[in-house]
Amino acid sequence: MNAPGPAIAAAPPEQVFDWLETEAQRRAEAGLVRRLRARTPDTGELDLAGNDYLGLAREKRVAGAAAAASLRWGAGSTGSRLVTGSTELHAELEHELARFCGTQAALVFSSGFAANLGVVTALSGAESAIVTDKYIHASLIEGCRLSRADVAVVAHSDPDAVAHALRTRRKQRALVITDSVFSVDGDLAPLPELSAVCREHGAALLVDDAHGLGVLGEGGRGAVHEAGLAGQPDVVTTITLSKSLGAQGGAVLGPRRVIRHLVDTARSFIFDTALAPGSAAAALAALGVLRGEPELATRVRTTAQELATRLTAAGLSVSTPAAAVVSVRAPSPDDAVAWAARCAEHGIRVGCFRPPSVPDGVSRLRLTARADLTESDVDRAVQVIVDNAPN
Ligand code: PMP
Repeated sequence: MNAPGPAIAAAPPEQVFDWLETEAQRRAEAGLVRRLRARTPDTGELDLAGNDYLGLAREKRVAGAAAAASLRWGAGSTGSRLVTGSTELHAELEHELARFCGTQAALVFSSGFAANLGVVTALSGAESAIVTDKYIHASLIEGCRLSRADVAVVAHSDPDAVAHALRTRRKQRALVITDSVFSVDGDLAPLPELSAVCREHGAALLVDDAHGLGVLGEGGRGAVHEAGLAGQPDVVTTITLSKSLGAQGGAVLGPRRVIRHLVDTARSFIFDTALAPGSAAAALAALGVLRGEPELATRVRTTAQELATRLTAAGLSVSTPAAAVVSVRAPSPDDAVAWAARCAEHGIRVGCFRPPSVPDGVSRLRLTARADLTESDVDRAVQVIVDNAPN
């Protein structure tokens, strides 16, 4: 036992949260106060901020499937997957996701965040090593923190740095983690090279394909499929159902034995209420739409490239989009916020990324292309973004 410290005065109940004011003040001074703004449908606002890449969230077949399943099965799933929450929709969705993406099996979670937490913690522990790209999604970072593994965070998209970390690890079992398409700049990880490094060093590869599914690969089968890694015995993929599939939820895809292990051990699967039946049905319907209209995936990529080319030509500092995400650099967090607000005033909703959500400290506007944007939508968006750029 440590020696007792100085006596701590008990704050009265109304002062227990006083420290929040100090923290809020600090965030305000750093320009980091976040605001919730309710979205209203059918305002004519052009949405370049959401992740509905294929325009399926409000598509009749998708939203209609959600409504019908909710009426049949209930608005909620009533329990965890292992108790009452598994329906035939969940089983069918898992079967179809695995078939579409080319893996042995799939397991659906209530969100992509829960899928990432679950898979990282279930596939690693105190007896293992993790090597991660420094720009992986927050949900994977949280998984690493919970895992109790030796975690090495390495340079962005750098297979040599991954190889070095694997070579110098102290634990036999190892998991390499990367996003396929990174959320902030929309760039693509060197998946074939990472896989080769993993194989050389006997490590498993976990790829978060949240932004690749529905956009990259043959008919939108994702970046892992495009890299020829789907169905490999040492590769596991996570996806979200909430971006290109326009629904809600997440999934892990991979070898059957990995999925079986998750059912028995992933705490964010076992102790979480199952995905709502309506969301499972919507994701299934969206998958059906994508199978029937593979050109949707191509259209998103073309539109993202068009946006990037035109904004670059106008003198802005723009990322090279691998999928739907296009990011435009802003000089400061305040400039980014004001720029996004001016775009909103002109009817263009864009995302605004700033510290601490951007690991490199660079604030950005974040634009997302959609398959259903018309040429005149793109013209209007480019004009408003350029006209309202900070000086
Ligand atoms: N991974 C990545 C790369 C993401 O961008 C997101 C969503 N922001 C998630 C995981 C989490 O997925 P979900 O929103 O379904 O929880």
